[in-house]
Amino acid sequence: MVEKFDCIVVGAGMSGNAAAYTLAKKGLSVLQLERGEYSGSKNVQGAIMYADMLETIIPDFREDAPLERHLIEQRFWMMSENAHTGVHYRSDSFNEERPNRYTIIRSQFDKWFSRKVKEAGAIVLTETTALELIFDAYGACVGVRTDREGGLVHADVVVLAEGVNGLLGSRAGLREPPKPETVALAVKEMHFLPQETIEARFNVKGDEGVVIEAAGAVSAGMTGMGFVYTNKECLSVGMGCLVSDYARSGETPYGLLEKFKAHPSIKPLLEGSEVKEYSAHLIPEGGYKAVPQLCGDGWVVVGDAAQLNNAVHREGSNLAMTSGRIAAEAIFQVRSRKEKMTKANLKRYPDALEASFVMKDLRKHKDMPALLHTNSRNFFLTYPELVAKAMENFVRVDGTPKKEKESATFAAFRKTRGLGGLVNDAFKLARAWR
Ligand code: FAD
Repeated sequence: MVEKFDCIVVGAGMSGNAAAYTLAKKGLSVLQLERGEYSGSKNVQGAIMYADMLETIIPDFREDAPLERHLIEQRFWMMSENAHTGVHYRSDSFNEERPNRYTIIRSQFDKWFSRKVKEAGAIVLTETTALELIFDAYGACVGVRTDREGGLVHADVVVLAEGVNGLLGSRAGLREPPKPETVALAVKEMHFLPQETIEARFNVKGDEGVVIEAAGAVSAGMTGMGFVYTNKECLSVGMGCLVSDYARSGETPYGLLEKFKAHPSIKPLLEGSEVKEYSAHLIPEGGYKAVPQLCGDGWVVVGDAAQLNNAVHREGSNLAMTSGRIAAEAIFQVRSRKEKMTKANLKRYPDALEASFVMKDLRKHKDMPALLHTNSRNFFLTYPELVAKAMENFVRVDGTPKKEKESATFAAFRKTRGLGGLVNDAFKLARAWR
């Protein structure tokens, strides 16, 4: 006889763990399937973890979660070939009792989260791939077929938390596979350094941490960016660009990462480090317009599988955890009222998500992905070079009268983009940002 659960969760990343934990805590019988050797073994993130969203799910997570550094400083760098112009924000207010953002290492963090899911009562099967969704004669999802022997399992509802590729959902026709212009391919390395070297180089002490996010010449005119995040004893260094841009330009992800690491602003930070891990992963970057249908009869989709990623603010794990939690709460409500897991009843999930920061933020920036994609050369190459030249002109003292310097800077902007182009770019950016 086929085993049946209240709920099957496919995937044990941020969204799947949030959903499975919430459901199990509420007393539902939950089976979670993860194709990796353990939760986190397949997952890649920068990684900044946003505490508020986890705290809503596990209020006392700080007691035993494997956290690296809490972030007290953010550096945004606009890179030219040999310089960067930066905006830094550092504040002692981030040295608070319950810090707001932490760096984490996903392989360790997901393992911890998975332990919490098990403690909450869910059954977690690792090294188990969900191969296909099973539907009844009326088109309602009633379970999954796994790669285990006799691997059919039934459930009232399936939570698809399978990440950005989302093969299960797309194979079943629930959504389209991600398109090259709506996903970025990111590569990441872990650079190990002694703790005191990291602290000296980044001007931090104890568990304080710094984030550098860098856009501009390093992405060779493509929509993308590089990053350096401080962990306790290593730096996460990565670079990601839209897949369609790689195809158009012929650039390779590792070629760009090498270029990023060799940049004169980055190289000294990595000097003497030992690289121990490489990884590559897709990031959904299509924004609001790429979000598919979020529920149907017997299923909901959460996290990256639903393209819930805010590329403008580089947030993904928080949207994943929040969507997982909200979907679980919606499922619990349907069940508590003894209703069926139909699309109409599960609509509580997309409705609640619309009212949350997740969809509000994605909707706010709905035009940004297309704007950046179609103007990548200007925003990621032309302007960073112009700004770098303007800054050099501004700070270099060489006897040229200031008025002449300023005129030269304005002339360079006008010559490169033209007055109409400048006004148009500013207008489009302002409109997409509102
Ligand atoms: P995932 O974490 O990808 O989990 C999906 C899980 O499903 C995986 O464990 C996978 O093995 C499993 N799975 C897939 N298919 C099946 C199947 N058929 N059967 C069984 N199991 C299956 N976000 C941030 O908030 N901050 C950051 O700093 C940040 N940096 C990033 C840097 C990089 C390089 C990348 C790639 C992403 C980054 N993100 C960041 C985004 C963030 O990692 C994702 O938004 C988040 O991991 C999504 O969680 P998820 O649970 O939806 O998907």
